[in-house]
Order: sequence, then structure tokens, then C-alpha cells
Amino acid sequence: MVRKVLVVGGGITGVSIVENLRRSGAEVTLVDRIDPGDPKQTSFGNAGMLARAAIIPVATPGLLRKIPKMLIDPQRPLFVKWGYIPKLLPWLIPFLKSGSVEKLKHIVGALDSLTHDSVEQHLNLSRGTGAEKFIQKGCFGFLYPDEKAFADDKFGREIKSSYGYHYKKLTRMDIEKLDANISKRYNCAAVFENHGWITDPSKYLKALFEHYSSLGGKFIKSEVIDINNQSITLKNGKMVTADKVVIATGAWSNFLAKKLKVKSMVESERGYHLFFKGSNMIPPFPLMISDGKFIATPMDGGLRCAGVVEFGGLKAPPSEAPLNLIRRKIKEVYPDLQFDEELTWMGHRPSTPDSLPLIGSVDGFADVICAFGAQHIGLTVGPKLGILVSDLIFGRRTNFDFNPFKANRFR
Ligand SMILES: Cc1cc2nc3c(=O)[nH]c(=O)nc-3n(C[C@H](O)[C@H](O)[C@H](O)COP(=O)(O)OP(=O)(O)OC[C@H]3O[C@@H](n4cnc5c(N)ncnc54)[C@H](O)[C@@H]3O)c2cc1C
Repeated sequence: MVRKVLVVGGGITGVSIVENLRRSGAEVTLVDRIDPGDPKQTSFGNAGMLARAAIIPVATPGLLRKIPKMLIDPQRPLFVKWGYIPKLLPWLIPFLKSGSVEKLKHIVGALDSLTHDSVEQHLNLSRGTGAEKFIQKGCFGFLYPDEKAFADDKFGREIKSSYGYHYKKLTRMDIEKLDANISKRYNCAAVFENHGWITDPSKYLKALFEHYSSLGGKFIKSEVIDINNQSITLKNGKMVTADKVVIATGAWSNFLAKKLKVKSMVESERGYHLFFKGSNMIPPFPLMISDGKFIATPMDGGLRCAGVVEFGGLKAPPSEAPLNLIRRKIKEVYPDLQFDEELTWMGHRPSTPDSLPLIGSVDGFADVICAFGAQHIGLTVGPKLGILVSDLIFGRRTNFDFNPFKANRFR
């Protein structure tokens, strides 16, 4: 019988897992080197979207052809630290291959199985915790300069529609009714209903964690330097044991997975945000600025613009170019944008070559469960991962198909 569980990593994934396990009656200990809600977590600085319809991975048919242009064009939202390329190649090649038509079908279906009920999952997790007030239900829009840019996104929109995520097309006149401050550069939009967003991801996480702690959930603040079937070793050399151990260490997961001989292949897709505190312009709901590949989200106290992708690993300092791109592009959306203060942030999306997280136990280590790698949608699917891991640990029967997420699939 499972009584004691250790969960390493206190981002949205780990906090969702510990709270679900606590509710199921387990004696749970969360372990992290920093506090939940800390700016060093990816869960701190995301765009806040509960992106139910985000079932199209970054790698899609034809991406390889577009990459060279994306890399040399300073207006494009893809950045690379060139010295990092040799380290990136073993990940990049299978990542690009995963964009084939056949693989895409399988990936989209698997992603949908995680995202489709994400707003309800967040509401269920946060109900009665003090975190619920940070959930806003509403639409998710995609803003395009013109019909051509709108048409270029047709592939993804059609797949989404086939999964039941329907959209409404907006003309320039509709956009003006929606938000008169949006500049005339943007003439087309697609709006998906029944989404949601978090109005302060850090406070949301802190509220969930405080609730878990107030009801007896334990926390050890330490780095984990080693892991075995039913134990972890803390930085001070102390070993802590349990019936089950969960790895939820986001973009840093290769370190512990490697100790268990798991080829986890998590790469950091670095992303950035600019927070315009006291912004005089805020869209009515989150808008993906399609030509900048970032989302402008109304958040508590201002406007957060978060997104773009940079490959450069976990250690390199933040770059200026991605921030400048977001800064420039948001001025194209809102030319009269004014604010009291600008805050910047960089974080690490935990991304696998096939864009699917690793969920489940590890060959040879039946009592270790992986729960990481939810790339661009980790906030969206965090509570779902919490339920799934709890189901696995308690051996509950479920009709969820875990096969696409097997932890040993990159052997
Ligand atoms: C710019 C940007 C925008 C985004 N926008 C969205 C969005 O709108 N919607 C969405 O769904 N997702 C979004 N994401 C993705 C999402 O933020 C991540 O997928 C998610 O936060 C990952 O959560 P996590 O709990 O797995 O990892 P993290 O939040 O990074 O937490 C991992 C934790 O593990 C701890 N840890 C690691 N190694 C160890 C160790 N050895 N010992 C102890 N502790 C350890 C770390 O300290 C950290 O606290 C965005 C990401 C970025 C960068």
C-alpha cells in the first residue's frame, strides 16, 4: 500500500501532483531547491494561458524549410545561441522529424488528451484553495496583420476544428469593436471560445502551495543530487526514503533521469516575457500576436507579453534580442502603449523532441514516476498531470492512454 510519496520539483506540475496525492490520502513531501512561485521557475513567467486548443506542436510539416529564413530575419521570433548548436543537434534532428504528417496525427491526438479539459482541471484543483480567484474564463485570440498571414495558419486551425475547437473569424471592423487601441496594422483575427487564463501565475502557484502546506503537506527546500527506486539524496548528503518518488523537475529533468539510465531528451526552449506594469492598454482576453509569436495577456496590475523561442541551454544568460523583438512588436499592436514600469524575465520550457511529456514509471525503477516535458503547455496541463500521476501511484483504473507518454520511449 502506498503511504509516503516524494515529489521533486515544485512548479505547476509538482504542486498539482502533491495536492492531488494529498487529497488521495498519501503522506506527501515536496522537494525543491527554491520556493514554489519563485521567478527561477518556468511556471512563474509564462503567458498564463490555459490553452485547451494548443494541440499543434511547434514541429509541423514544412518547418525545416522555414528555419533558415527564420534564423536570419531579425523580425522572426526564433533565436539561437550559435555556440550551442552542437549540443542541440541530437535533440533538433528528432524534433524536426517529429513534424512529419504521420507523426503529427499521433502527437495531436495525444496532446488533446491532455489539454481538452484543462480549464475544468484548473477549477477542480483550485476550488476552495485561494488560488481560484486567479482563474479567468474567456476567449483566446490570434491576431494577424492580413489575410495572407491568416491563411498561413490554416493548417493548424483546421486540425483544431476537427477536434472541436471552433473559431470565429474577425475582420478589421470586429477588431476595432473588440479593442479600439489595436493598430491598423492588424486586420484579421481568429477567436477561440471556452478558454481561460491565470491572472498571476506566481501567486496562483503560491496559493495552491499554501493550501497544500496548511493541510499537512510537507516541503523540503533543497537540491536533489541523486535518486534511486525509493529514495532521493539531498545536497547535504541526507537520504530520504518513500514508497514512490516522482520527478517533476521541468527543464532540468535530464539530470535525475540520467541517474536512472532514462534517456529523457528534455531541451530548454527558452522564452521571454515583458511585463508592462500599469499599462494603459490591455486586450479583453489573451491575444497571440502571430507575427511575434508571443501572447499579450491581461494580468493583475498590467500587460504581460510572453513567448518567442531561443535555443541556448539552461546556463547561458538571457539575451537582449528576443526582448527587443517583443518590445518592438507590442508597439506595433499598441502604438500608444504607456506604462509605469517594464519588468523582464527569461525561462525554460521543458521540451521533448516529440512535444509530449514523459508520464509514468521507469524501466527497472518501478517506484519512480516521471512527470515532465510539457513544453509550451505545461501550465495548461499541470493539474491533469497531477491527476494522472495520482492515478498511477494509487493503481486506479482509468481509460487514459498512457502509451504516447512512455518514459522510456527515446531509448
Ligand atoms: C515565455 C513562456 C510562455 C509560456 N506560456 C505558457 C502558457 O501561456 N500556457 C502554458 O500552458 N504554458 C506556458 N509556458 C510553459 C509552461 O510555463 C511550462 O511548461 C511549465 O511552467 C513547466 O512547469 P514545471 O512544473 O514542469 O517546471 P518548472 O515550473 O520549471 O518547475 C521545475 C522545478 O523543479 C525544480 N528542480 C529542478 N531540478 C531540481 C533538483 N535537482 N532538485 C530540486 N529541485 C529541482 C526547479 O527548482 C523548479 O522549481 C510558457 C513558457 C514560457 C517560457
